Amino acid sequence: MFSKLKKFYYTKILKRKYYRVGECKGCGRCCRQIYVKHAKGVIQTEKDFENLKHQHRFYTYLKVTGKDEIGLIFECQNLDPETHLCKIHKTRPGICRRYPQEEIFAMGGALSEDCGYSLIPIETFGEVFEKVEKQSKINLWDKIFGRKTKIKEFELKQKEGE
Ligand code: SF4
Ligand code: SF4
Repeated sequence: MFSKLKKFYYTKILKRKYYRVGECKGCGRCCRQIYVKHAKGVIQTEKDFENLKHQHRFYTYLKVTGKDEIGLIFECQNLDPETHLCKIHKTRPGICRRYPQEEIFAMGGALSEDCGYSLIPIETFGEVFEKVEKQSKINLWDKIFGRKTKIKEFELKQKEGE
């Protein structure tokens, strides 16, 4: 019962596709390879990033360390290079508290290697397949029903024109 309620809450209310499980091992990898996404997509140039900086304090912590096929790569300057821990852990921004979220997949990213967290699909492959099959049956029915309606409309128009 609880698992059904949980599933309903995550999929229907939060609109999530994955459960986040596990815990942080404090490796600091996710603070060393950060992509920044804004309205137009993942930040690609330092000029675009400069324009964003004033929008959130999190951005002021970042410095560019490289670029790959996804976009600019940033490292957070709050990461202690010796301990690999966050120097502002208690006051870290919400985005860090909520990490990792499934949105990283939509950005083309992935969890850091050896991350203590995993993102597990809420619905099994079988459940997704069943939904797609059901939806395609509905679509087929709509097509047939819609076509019949159009034929009737056509017949009616013809009769009106007689
Ligand atoms: S990569 Fe995962 S385990 Fe490592 S610091 Fe980030 S959240 Fe924690
Ligand atoms: S503020 Fe802390 S937790 Fe957030 S990215 Fe920087 S080092 Fe990591």
